[in-house]
Amino acid sequence: MAQRYLIVGAGAAGIAAAESIRSLDPSGDILVVGQDPHGYYSRPGLAYYLTGELPERLLFPFTKKDFDRLLLRRLHARIVALRPQAHEVTLDDGHSLPYDRLLLATGSLAAMPPTPGVDLEGVVKLDDLADARRILERCRRRPAAVVVGGGITALEIVEGLRACHVRTHYLLRGERYWGNVLDETESRIVERRLQHEGIFLHYHTELAEIVGRQGRVAGILTQDGRRVDCELVAVAIGVRPRLELAGDAGLATERGILVNEYLQASAPDIYAAGDVAQVFDPFSGKSVLDTLWGVAVAQGRAAGRNMAGQATPYHKSVPFNVTRLAGLTTTIVGTVGQGRDKDLIGIARGDSETWRQLPDALVAQTAFDVNRLRLLVAESNLLGAVVMGDQTLSLPLYRLIAHQADITPIRERLLQPSARLGDLIAGFWSDWREHHATP
Ligand SMILES: Cc1cc2nc3c(=O)[nH]c(=O)nc-3n(C[C@H](O)[C@H](O)[C@H](O)COP(=O)(O)OP(=O)(O)OC[C@H]3O[C@@H](n4cnc5c(N)ncnc54)[C@H](O)[C@@H]3O)c2cc1C
Repeated sequence: MAQRYLIVGAGAAGIAAAESIRSLDPSGDILVVGQDPHGYYSRPGLAYYLTGELPERLLFPFTKKDFDRLLLRRLHARIVALRPQAHEVTLDDGHSLPYDRLLLATGSLAAMPPTPGVDLEGVVKLDDLADARRILERCRRRPAAVVVGGGITALEIVEGLRACHVRTHYLLRGERYWGNVLDETESRIVERRLQHEGIFLHYHTELAEIVGRQGRVAGILTQDGRRVDCELVAVAIGVRPRLELAGDAGLATERGILVNEYLQASAPDIYAAGDVAQVFDPFSGKSVLDTLWGVAVAQGRAAGRNMAGQATPYHKSVPFNVTRLAGLTTTIVGTVGQGRDKDLIGIARGDSETWRQLPDALVAQTAFDVNRLRLLVAESNLLGAVVMGDQTLSLPLYRLIAHQADITPIRERLLQPSARLGDLIAGFWSDWREHHATP
């Protein structure tokens, strides 16, 4: 009899898993159940959709033909309960669905603060396409806006609002932007660019209350008693993996669903992948969350292979993200920071817990205008890098870090105060890659 594969979540991890299963099991019955009415689209692309750089139709990586090719059944519904013993889930309309193998790829949702007024009309977040449309719709009225939070999403919202010519205030609880991933120079580069774009930055400023008038946002009050009038408040203080199904079913969870190296959860025939999975990280020796598109795809693929019976351990690679911070292309790879960011409750979108687990390392850095390169240098290898502006070295650095390349020949020179880091890395890379086949 054909295997029944049930995938909960039609996002990056869910669809990658379906592709992987189909490549190994041509006759299996694959059902993908997704709650989002818009189906499968690029969530990182939402930032570019907000700024008007990407039309909505280009957010969708798959055509109908692509789905047809995979011979999937797709269902727009929400799963409300999971019964691992019975190998069954329940849909929101009360129907039950059986499975032989189940993947939980339910992603994560924006966390909202317990601030008074957070339920008022005009308070927005950026999780999905519906949120992005809502923000654009509101921007048409040219409101004044306040953004709270940190990491990449807060900036993406700020950039989107600026592109719509919205007068925007960005509140930072601490003294600088994304302080546990960026160093002070990098934070200041981003902040200066925001100010140059006309964004009002408020340091050491905490949201105390969102004030309403007739059910709508009319302004905010800060902890130190100031008021900022606005009609829109955007919140990006971090995300929470969607653990409800797993938790209620008694699966082992911490910050995410705990999985083993085969991405199996704690009950038989159940797997987890993507934002919702908490996965062992050989670099830090801890079990961590990533909220990165590429990681979700890689985990989805691996989970799919395992579900289809081809036991394949998932090897977490170093987290890597190429993003834009205040219009400046920035690559973050490996471990680059430490501690907590006052603007975030935990993990944000496009983020990795691994980035913030920096052991002892020396810093080599160079900066020219907005082009900046920071390297985290261990005894014999590189642990991480932040590349801002010129991206020539971002992929080579990713490979050198991921392969733990022995940098002993250039280590001392890298750590010289006036080292030409770019030239040293470029030269080392060109020698290294001649002797190493890299994927
Ligand atoms: C605005 C934004 C910017 C981002 N920027 C970056 C970036 O710069 N770089 C980067 O690498 N990553 C970025 N990300 C993160 C990246 O998009 C995610 O890591 C990735 O989408 C995770 O994939 P996933 O499949 O785990 O979850 P998702 O893509 O969130 O998909 C999960 C799906 O499961 C569905 N679902 C949940 N519960 C149920 C249920 N009970 N029943 C049915 N369906 C359910 C949801 O509706 C959703 O469609 C960004 C994300 C956002 C939103």
